[in-house]
Amino acid sequence: KARNPHEPEFVQAAEEVILSIAPVLEKNPEFVRLRLLERMLEPERMISFRVTWLDDKGEVQVNRGYRVQMNSAIGPYKGGLRFHPSVTPSVLKFLAFEQIFKNALTGIPMGGGKGGSDFDPKGKSENEIMKFCQAFMGELARHINHRLDVPAGDIGVGGREIGYLFGAYKKIKNEFTGVLTGKGIGWGGSLIRTEATGYGLVYFAENMLQTKNDSIKGKTCLVSGSGNVAQYAIEKIIQLGGKAVTASDSSGFIYDESGFSMEKLEFLKDLKNNRRGRIKEYAERFKNVVYKDLDEKADHNPLWAIKANCAFPCATQNEVNGKDANNLVKNGVTLLGEGANMPTTIEGINILIDNGVMYSPGKAANAGGVATSGLEMTQNFMGDHWTREAVDAKLQGIMKNIHDTSLAAAKEYGKPGNYMVGANIAGFLKVARAMQAQGVI
Ligand code: NDP
Repeated sequence: KARNPHEPEFVQAAEEVILSIAPVLEKNPEFVRLRLLERMLEPERMISFRVTWLDDKGEVQVNRGYRVQMNSAIGPYKGGLRFHPSVTPSVLKFLAFEQIFKNALTGIPMGGGKGGSDFDPKGKSENEIMKFCQAFMGELARHINHRLDVPAGDIGVGGREIGYLFGAYKKIKNEFTGVLTGKGIGWGGSLIRTEATGYGLVYFAENMLQTKNDSIKGKTCLVSGSGNVAQYAIEKIIQLGGKAVTASDSSGFIYDESGFSMEKLEFLKDLKNNRRGRIKEYAERFKNVVYKDLDEKADHNPLWAIKANCAFPCATQNEVNGKDANNLVKNGVTLLGEGANMPTTIEGINILIDNGVMYSPGKAANAGGVATSGLEMTQNFMGDHWTREAVDAKLQGIMKNIHDTSLAAAKEYGKPGNYMVGANIAGFLKVARAMQAQGVI
């Protein structure tokens, strides 16, 4: 806290990990002597740059761009780019820090990184988005390559933006390499990458439920967000026989008691991915759907006060606070899987765990996205293209492995069933051992 007084999100992410790994440090005094945790908390390199571009009126616009190269102990830096007005060094450092452990858990050799800009894509024309992406890559291209740092998408950066960023990189460097993941299928992308985070989240939840001889089938599920992660979480919930009854965006949320069908989900995908509209339109299109505007001053989010069995926050950080956690418990939720990164506050997590809710942190439950990005990198290196079935089978295997590894670590360190502690410990140990082997650098 003293070292990073103006970085609340980063301090919050660090505190969660520090508390979890205390028993590991006790057992391994050499990790303390080598100051491995302190080293992990300091980015290896952090780049901040100006992005200047011309809008449709011909006026000059100035934004800030960043890349946080957090840790490369086990592989090239890997992590998404976020375009959102709320992007700050604190937000990117928290995301890059979490990414170190998440990537380690996937079993694929990838280090941790994150980047982005305070650019707001909302209301921008297609031309402005392209101009911005080209200007952003104009600087970023100096700091990345397919062996060093491989960015992907995140909030505000989907397939369209990755296309423009990739085109700009290729032009600047005069080379066709897998420098970004989330690419289109015809030009180096992997099947299932678009679906991977949402699918992986629900596969992870299924693994958790199996430990109680239960499954998603027949479960009523709350989902927040309506972007990439939320859409494919809803799709997998439907495929596995569950019922997803909510979705949201930064303006409000919808509650559809009868649940999403594939047809309704197609409407949502078209609304959000092609027409870039507001979630309110869903309630106007379908019968018996309740819409509620977001009340920024409220001390809780009514989405989390709906009766359900499972909850999947898939929008953004700190969207489930202590009050929300109490409401979830009161209304029968017994499992919360984080699709977003750090969507639950520390108070919220404690309330969930104390009340016996099965809780899985984003760094474990949403790792399917980056894992499939890792598979995309492998295919690019091999010059190969795997089938949908092959990638999906690998994704399921990786999610099961992350689940089992986290559960085993939690048990070994005296916190059976605590996925947060287990994921933090398993991820930390892998990176710590690599750093130890590589010396004091
Ligand atoms: P998208 O941009 O596709 O969607 C984000 C969704 O969340 C949108 O519905 C957006 O609403 C909503 N949202 C964003 N910010 C806020 C906010 N401040 N308040 C309320 N709603 C908000 O992003 P993704 O689906 O890719 O990412 C969602 C989360 O999942 C993030 O935390 C991300 O870091 C995490 N994640 C993503 C991965 C991926 O592969 N994409 C991998 C692992 C984690 P609106 O439409 O109004 O903008």
